[in-house]
Amino acid sequence: MNPSAVVASWLKVTPAGLRAAPGNFWIDPVTPVDRAVITHGHGDHARGGHGSVLATDPTLAIMAERFGAQSGAQAARYGEPITVGDMRVTFVPAGHVLGSAQLVLEYNGLRAVVSGDYKRRRDPTCPPFEVTPCDVFITEATFALPVFCHPDDGGEIARLLHSMRVFPERTHLVGAYALGKAQRVIVLLREAGYSAPIYLHGALAGMCALYRHYGIDLGELRPVAGEPLKALAGQIVLCPPGALSDRWSRRMHEPVTAMASGWMRIRQRAKQRGVELPLVISDHADWNELLQTVREVKPGAVWITHGREEALAHALGVMGVPAQALSLVGYDDENDDDLTGTAPPS
Ligand SMILES: [Zn+2]
Ligand SMILES: [Zn+2]
Repeated sequence: MNPSAVVASWLKVTPAGLRAAPGNFWIDPVTPVDRAVITHGHGDHARGGHGSVLATDPTLAIMAERFGAQSGAQAARYGEPITVGDMRVTFVPAGHVLGSAQLVLEYNGLRAVVSGDYKRRRDPTCPPFEVTPCDVFITEATFALPVFCHPDDGGEIARLLHSMRVFPERTHLVGAYALGKAQRVIVLLREAGYSAPIYLHGALAGMCALYRHYGIDLGELRPVAGEPLKALAGQIVLCPPGALSDRWSRRMHEPVTAMASGWMRIRQRAKQRGVELPLVISDHADWNELLQTVREVKPGAVWITHGREEALAHALGVMGVPAQALSLVGYDDENDDDLTGTAPPS
């Protein structure tokens, strides 16, 4: 049997998600299970109510922030193998958001890497993706079309700062996911020399505090709540994407509406959201990064969890790498983290 077929005998798609039989655990399960191993804290991967949870310390903290303390929580450190049942599990940085990890699963001399969500760009808020050679590489395919070629994020931040110079009286309202994107945008602004206070919608406060706790310097942040509208003229206000179109945003005086997302590459999506200033800043690998990653990881086979599976499988086939779609359900990367858009302000 080829290695991919052997791995398929112990790593299987179930209704709750991928299950590693020799360790008796599920990876990023979408329904409550006895033993969950979680790649990162986004709402479509980390859910509450499992019997026990193995994840990195920041991911556990994110889950506690959102769902309350989890029973049977066990913290994993990057690069330190943990024995789970008959398997070895090692958490390796995925470069996606704070605490995000790839899971290196080893059993009977074979190695599978479940990458979770990942990107290859520099992100000052989390350690970079590490390449781990393996027999089977399991990847997402959110942006697996050649049209998705994310520009340099510094250039996108420069466009935001340029707009602020052109419209010095208007509030720049920037939609950004609460976990990861908001903090990355803040740090990129600081790196570009923007030192004024940045205003936050209440739903972003908890995650920003958590990033600070883990040593990420975000500069001065202020809650929007209680500020007179006049004080927000000429300022940057960050909010969850959902808030861009709800009543909350109508309080702002002539806002310039911006949004930071890989989907902003598609003009139609920006229009639908009523976004005037689309910022193409993504926490997911783009088309070239997906192909580059497979070239570097050099796996015997690739399994694709969700997204544009056909396009990626085809391109990998041309490269001579056997690839198959798992078509996992429940992972929605358009609203990767929109859960927080509806959560009560914390
Ligand atoms: Zn994610
Ligand atoms: Zn995801």
